[in-house]
Amino acid sequence: MDAVLYPGSFDPITYGHINIVERALDIFSQVTVLVATNPQKSYLFTPEEKVEMIRQCLRGWARVEVEHTEGLLVDYARRRQIRVAVRGLRAVTDFEGELAMALTNRTLWPEFDTVFLMTRSDYMYLNSSVVRQVAQLGGDISKFVPPAVEQMLQARFGRGG
Ligand code: ADP
Repeated sequence: MDAVLYPGSFDPITYGHINIVERALDIFSQVTVLVATNPQKSYLFTPEEKVEMIRQCLRGWARVEVEHTEGLLVDYARRRQIRVAVRGLRAVTDFEGELAMALTNRTLWPEFDTVFLMTRSDYMYLNSSVVRQVAQLGGDISKFVPPAVEQMLQARFGRGG
């Protein structure tokens, strides 16, 4: 199979995301992790910080690249001629938003498609906003994120940085 994009906000990247990358590599020849920006959201980390953080977490992984875009996902995809995106699905609450996004992207570029990988069950309730909250309150996040991310979060919230 061809290359695939893995778009997301990754604010920050967690072991749940990393598991999706790992499994996408079993199916696709190349995975481009794409830090995307939703102009209606505000983030803890800048796109450049996120790219750097993800590169550190995935250092040494063959067939993976990490990029960011400020524009539409399909514009980036069309430029790169990558016609498939992968997304992770957790609880049923993810479904509606993911369906809307997948259908909208295909309306914008009819050749574009999205495939979904079900989350590993132990990462079912893991998401970036929980990680940010626990980190901000000084809790242990080592089960949720790699050490490089843990350090960047501690530095951001004024501990150990
Ligand atoms: P977004 O804000 O667009 O949802 P995220 O960075 O939160 O972006 O997530 C990017 C992708 O990773 C989404 O498809 C999301 O469902 C998936 N994802 C996030 N956390 C997990 C997890 N714990 N297990 C599997 N997939 C996940």
